[in-house]
Amino acid sequence: MGRPATVTINLDALRHNYRIAQQLSSMNNAGVMAVVKADAYSHGATACATALADIASGFAVACIEEALELRVAGIKQPILLLEGFFEPDELDKIDQYRLDTVIHHQYQLDALAAHPLDHPVRVWLKMDSGMGRVGFAPEEYRQSWERLNSLPWVRDIILMSHFACADEADNQHAQQQLATFNAHTSNLPGQRSLCNSAAVVALPQARSDWNRPGLLLYGVSPFGQAHDIEQMIQPVMELSSAIISIKTIPAGGSVGYGSQWTAQRPTRIGVVAIGYADGYPRHAVNGTPVLINGRRAPLIGRVSMDMLTVDLTDLPHVQIGDRAILWGADLPITEVAQKANTIPYQLLCNLNRVPVHYQGALMTDRADLEQVLV
Ligand SMILES: *Cc1c(COP(=O)(O)O)cnc(C)c1O
Repeated sequence: MGRPATVTINLDALRHNYRIAQQLSSMNNAGVMAVVKADAYSHGATACATALADIASGFAVACIEEALELRVAGIKQPILLLEGFFEPDELDKIDQYRLDTVIHHQYQLDALAAHPLDHPVRVWLKMDSGMGRVGFAPEEYRQSWERLNSLPWVRDIILMSHFACADEADNQHAQQQLATFNAHTSNLPGQRSLCNSAAVVALPQARSDWNRPGLLLYGVSPFGQAHDIEQMIQPVMELSSAIISIKTIPAGGSVGYGSQWTAQRPTRIGVVAIGYADGYPRHAVNGTPVLINGRRAPLIGRVSMDMLTVDLTDLPHVQIGDRAILWGADLPITEVAQKANTIPYQLLCNLNRVPVHYQGALMTDRADLEQVLV
């Protein structure tokens, strides 16, 4: 018991979404690296990777600490470090734990060239085809490839890039990136990897040997606009809490810090035990929906650290103790993100303090998983 704020993770929905990503990806039996960085976008990296262990081709993370967490949990599939290593001494761990690494910069290439490994490593050589962040310039890509290819402790090189604007309805920029990538890799051997969630869905011509969806696996559309994909995926996370106080204030009464909201009519105020310390966005505007007993109540007043307030005047049957859903299957996180002028990625990653409960695969498929992990 205790505080009612809860994150519920549906691992069957995660498996469903992984299979959708696989179906979208597989023109030629493509691999799907499940991106589980940032603790699987706060869904729990170990739980999610374990739940996908019998179907996923591999996992992608942001750093060695995240990779080791998965290895320690018994994950045997390839694990890719999306930014490679930050310090040369990580190469020993890459070797020991058989990790795949991105190489995106000359200093990494120099460090790898100076550090023979016992077990030849698979390298994902990253081109900056127009994202403007990390990766070798298209003109220096071939030379970097040749240097890598000359190292006996590099067993395989995957040609990789990343899109800046694949989530936009007008995907000209992504087309341009794809053209740049293709032009500068046309006569290089090896597998290719380009697509994040948005590109897996919206840029079929960019799907290749290895796709790298993240957000899509969690059942959230990567697009700012309504998109058909929403009908195919299932939200994995539900964030909920409960009503801990109800009172009626007169017209003219105000609610919350800064007295930013004033009642225009006698108003029934409900208090929900969740706030910005839990990761609910403080910038959510008045009117942001909160789902209570299947009906939407509007957020009113400023979100506090541990509580927020909703207008229950039009929901007279709501009682103390009723559950309030902040986002989940019937209240898309994309909608809440828009109301808070942010993106679902940030809402997910900002989650904090809320206990996580798991449903589905982890429990029911336990026996199968243990066989896979032996
Ligand atoms: C985070 C990340 C992804 C996954 O992005 P989504 O938009 O969540 O699908 C893919 N590739 C790279 C290089 C990333 O850093």
